[in-house]
Amino acid sequence: MSAIGQAGAATEKVAAETAIALLSCEKVYPNGIRALMPIDLSIREGEFVTLLGPSGCGKSTLLKMVAGLSEPSDGRLLLWNKPNHQLHKSNHSLSFVFQEASLLPWHSVRKNVSLPLELEGLAKTEIKPRVEQVLELVGLTRFANALPRELSGGMQMRVSIARSLVVKPDLLLMDEPFGALDEITRFKLDGDLLDLWQKNALSVLFVTHSIHEAVFLSERIIVMAARPGRIVADISIDEPYPRQAEFRMSTRFSEYAMQLHEHLVAAAGTEDEV
Ligand code: ADP
Ligand code: MG
Repeated sequence: MSAIGQAGAATEKVAAETAIALLSCEKVYPNGIRALMPIDLSIREGEFVTLLGPSGCGKSTLLKMVAGLSEPSDGRLLLWNKPNHQLHKSNHSLSFVFQEASLLPWHSVRKNVSLPLELEGLAKTEIKPRVEQVLELVGLTRFANALPRELSGGMQMRVSIARSLVVKPDLLLMDEPFGALDEITRFKLDGDLLDLWQKNALSVLFVTHSIHEAVFLSERIIVMAARPGRIVADISIDEPYPRQAEFRMSTRFSEYAMQLHEHLVAAAGTEDEV
């Protein structure tokens, strides 16, 4: 048990508006690999937070633990003040967006997006307007009848995002969602994602190893380091939204990027030898 686990209910109390709280959460995989040192991290409802760090620093592990796809080996993980495995009993929900769009190739865009609701057992009359609404949100109305292979990589990712939004999540977990896309498409989707975040009162926990993507998107960046996986800095990006393309060209942007780069370099210098 971690120190916090032993300390009892008083220390587990977190502010009502906290969406995610990791309390000394750590992960050692069954094969003995320590993916994460004990992590303490609290994310407010509505925040856009990015985990930034090199390959192998435990970003995906952390995200999977929040999603309930992987158990912490110690510590506590709360979503809206409740253990994360009780999320289904609350009126909150989350969605996961992976790097691969993972669409069913034999189904149309519309069918791919409606599937989560069909699996939930919703009535057709309820499904239809919700699907049309999210297709509109991600700009795919005209392509509703297309098959995934008829779409570009960027459009396939939009379908994947639509599919995650159709269940009306409060929390969006995104693991390098735009990592496989070309830079121009990525810039466009970054901008669109910020629009969606602002319009839908979402909390977003986003993973990337791109310093520039992290600065453009985030209110707050959690910098991580590898061997062992841990948090080395927690940086606020004090730049108003909506953020325009000019922000990417600004001195402020470069200064943030430099600051993050220095944290990453300093942390890499302290990695244990492997
Ligand atoms: P990132 O997403 O930052 O690249 P990961 O969370 O995927 O990092 O991995 C963190 C560490 O845990 C790495 O050393 C990786 O090899 C290891 N790891 C990830 N998944 C597993 C697993 N299922 N079993 C054993 N080790 C794993
Ligand atoms: Mg990963």
